[in-house]
Amino acid sequence: MLDQPVTALPGVGVEKAKILAKLDLYSVRDVLFGYPRSYKDYSKIYTADHARQGMEGLFTGTVVNLREQLLNQNKRLIQAQIQGNTQSLTVSWFQVMRGRGTSYLYRQLSKVDQIWIYGQIKEGPYSWELTSGEWHTKQPKHLGLVPVYPLVSGITNTMRLQWIDFALKYLDQIYECLPKQLLAEFYPRTKAIHAIHFPTDDGELLEARKRLIFEEFFLFHLSLGKQEEQKNAIQHKPDGKCLEQYFNTLPFTLTAGQLQAICDVRADMEAPIQMRRLIQGDVGSGKTVIAEYATLKAVDSGGQVAFLVPTEVLARQMWTRLRERFSSFGIEVELLVGKDTTKHQKKILSGLAQGTIAVVVGTHALIADRVVFANLTLAIVDEQHRFGVRQRIALSDKGNADLLVMSATPIPRSLALTLYGDLNNTIIRDLPAGRRIVDTRLIHPSKRQDVYRFLVGRVEEKEQGFVVFALVEESDKLDLKAAVTEMEVLSAGPLSSIRVGLVHGQMGKQKAECLELFYQQKIDVLVSTTVIEVGMNVPTATVIVVENADRFGLAQLHQLRGRVGRSKKQAYCFLIANPQSEIARQRLDIIRHTNDGLRIAEEDLKLRGPGDLLGTRQSGQPWFKLADLIADAELLEKAAKAGRMLILEDPTLAKYPTLLAEVKRQQP
Ligand code: ADP
Ligand code: MG
Repeated sequence: MLDQPVTALPGVGVEKAKILAKLDLYSVRDVLFGYPRSYKDYSKIYTADHARQGMEGLFTGTVVNLREQLLNQNKRLIQAQIQGNTQSLTVSWFQVMRGRGTSYLYRQLSKVDQIWIYGQIKEGPYSWELTSGEWHTKQPKHLGLVPVYPLVSGITNTMRLQWIDFALKYLDQIYECLPKQLLAEFYPRTKAIHAIHFPTDDGELLEARKRLIFEEFFLFHLSLGKQEEQKNAIQHKPDGKCLEQYFNTLPFTLTAGQLQAICDVRADMEAPIQMRRLIQGDVGSGKTVIAEYATLKAVDSGGQVAFLVPTEVLARQMWTRLRERFSSFGIEVELLVGKDTTKHQKKILSGLAQGTIAVVVGTHALIADRVVFANLTLAIVDEQHRFGVRQRIALSDKGNADLLVMSATPIPRSLALTLYGDLNNTIIRDLPAGRRIVDTRLIHPSKRQDVYRFLVGRVEEKEQGFVVFALVEESDKLDLKAAVTEMEVLSAGPLSSIRVGLVHGQMGKQKAECLELFYQQKIDVLVSTTVIEVGMNVPTATVIVVENADRFGLAQLHQLRGRVGRSKKQAYCFLIANPQSEIARQRLDIIRHTNDGLRIAEEDLKLRGPGDLLGTRQSGQPWFKLADLIADAELLEKAAKAGRMLILEDPTLAKYPTLLAEVKRQQP
């Protein structure tokens, strides 16, 4: 019954069903799990005597002075008074004219003596007033907290109430899904679902929310961590000569954090279980070394490696870097980007399928079904927060591969739990020796020339720099044009004496060429939109200028700043802005005064919400119906912990069939 289409609901035909699809309601079950957006408090019924400024509630009384008045050609006012003992309340509705004659509302109200109106009280010149209230000519059926549902045109809240009434009749078909050991703490499932729609009071609503939010987090966590079946995990060989040579040829000493991370990865890869490890480390902490180590270890054991990075620019950079590093080991590294089928790409695809190519670096293109591996034993995902959580699973499922995920720290704990809750965590806390804190300054736009003079000075010392312009939307043509014009003005003016390259997100091949020239130091300053945001590594770059800095997110600014200060030289970050609001000023102050990526990210999450923090919303990113990553962080921790324990006990959830069924429902 629950899985019947919405047309089973009273008054829903094919047309209504189409409208309901807009609300993601397809079945009776969806209606039951379509939670209210908010509640109206119908628990007390007031009279006009109770009216006070700002009060919201359900008022009732005898109708006096009902009238309807034309305000102009297409607008009318319907007004009545309800009388109390000591004071009266004027209720009004403004309506657009539809047809002639008196309004439906007027006719309905004139048929009854007593009415009920829900709304907010304001003080008027002659009496208390209530405008555009919800009206009833009978005492409303649902008293208590009345749910308010998300609506679209053609669907009213009253309809939804009626459908919920209908759906709730089948509540007994909903099974408990939480394991017994958790039930003591939470409402049973059916009770929670009933109460989320019709709570008797605030306390019950709170408990219902608690249970359902926990359930959301818990099911999400299990859907990530659950294993399909116990596969034979890959056991990589202990480090041999090849890795010894690798360590001997490293041009620097590893930091303690890097050593620890390598130890963890080594243990995971050699163990007969699937590695699921996240390496977190702030920008510049040297995470790539860990990836190089793991890659070499996998190849040395006869496996293949897929290395997923978020953008083509970064893919090329990583490809170049790995090719250089591994050339002396006789390991070929290939690059796979884009969807087209060039001859060259076909060759790579067949090389991967036959196992003749050991290492491939690429973008999303790697996840496509057509990419098949002969023996994938390691999947690496860099800058994971740019990907959906399911994408990393898709990649490692192409083999039975160990999974290594790398991310710069700026992800607040609550978000990290949802993105990485199923992973073991290694944090690199230290930066390579001798790094200095980037000198970060807020510059008023009128002082911009000084900044560019300074930049030219650094270039004369053989250093390099970035200038970044804000684009509100990468796709916004007007905005792009403005940025490009400004870039051109800059390269013709203050930067005319040095070699400048322009790049933006909508450039094709030229972009890669330009970046290549910058790497080779044939270009001194890269002027760009945010394309340099993540991962770019040019140690000789010491200056970054951010125009309209107040238009960037904090985490984004921190990432941008991380492009410089990657060597022993002092680096500078100039934020050009004239913040108009106190909040904007505070935000920039945070960036100026702290270098702690985590703290910055927490602030950003509070100020802008998770969508902004992660850049544009991406498919596969977890968005919850009820849960809020900030407000419900405690429940999230609890759910992640409980989920982790359950998976340890029963990795495939075979012992929990009702839970498994719900987990599967979570997966699109
Ligand atoms: P991220 O963690 O941001 O990905 P990278 O791996 O790109 O950082 O490393 C940043 C820079 O620091 C690179 O130029 C790298 O060669 C260098 N590097 C990495 N580890 C060390 C170290 N232990 N000592 C000195 N420099 C290092
Ligand atoms: Mg990196």
